[in-house]
Amino acid sequence: MTNLLGQLYRLQTRIRFVHDREKRRDTVPPDLVEVDREYKEKVQAVAALKARLTEAELEKRKAEGELADHKEKLKKYQAQLRNVQSSREYSAALNEIDGVEKAIRSTEDRFLELEEEIEKVRADLDEREKTLPTETDRHEERLKDWRAEQRTINEELASAREEIARLEAEIPPRDRAEFHRLVDKKHGLALVLVQGSSCSACHVKVRPAAMQILKQGREVIYCDSCKRILYYEPQSS
Ligand SMILES: [Zn+2]
Repeated sequence: MTNLLGQLYRLQTRIRFVHDREKRRDTVPPDLVEVDREYKEKVQAVAALKARLTEAELEKRKAEGELADHKEKLKKYQAQLRNVQSSREYSAALNEIDGVEKAIRSTEDRFLELEEEIEKVRADLDEREKTLPTETDRHEERLKDWRAEQRTINEELASAREEIARLEAEIPPRDRAEFHRLVDKKHGLALVLVQGSSCSACHVKVRPAAMQILKQGREVIYCDSCKRILYYEPQSS
């Protein structure tokens, strides 16, 4: 029992360590938050401009296609106009021509607007892409210490995860499952040390009889108050 509780306690400690270190690794340090945000905005701006450029070029090609279609139609109606047999046919052809000319004008306007926009976006993008590599270098330089810390954390995590896997393999499946259930229910703290005869999580005193059993390591004792498993280490009491 003592051995099992020792393993579970170690497992819990390592799991908590992993969570803590992961959080630290993935949280931008407060003094770098602003710098990091500014840099990410620049990267995102470049990506957004690139996306817009692709989209606008597509729209421009589409407008070009439409314009060609409209002009083709215009030719057709103009030919019809020359061959009309009645005034009804004549005014119908005129109507069609009027409509298609309007469409041509609005498509041409759209085409020109797109051309103008593409030119502007491309200039903006060129400018930003020119400075981005330098910005990236400068950003990485500022983040250098944090990056080093992240690498160290990753190494610590790798060895902690190895130990967790080893411990999990050693602990009987039923105890392991029960432990994980309790970990989830008790916000990461399933086993708590007894310190000065009290539960170190909720500080409620452990009954003397329970304390006796704990010291003998005969069975699992739960805290009367917070219902966590009590873990007794002779040197910590
Ligand atoms: Zn307690």
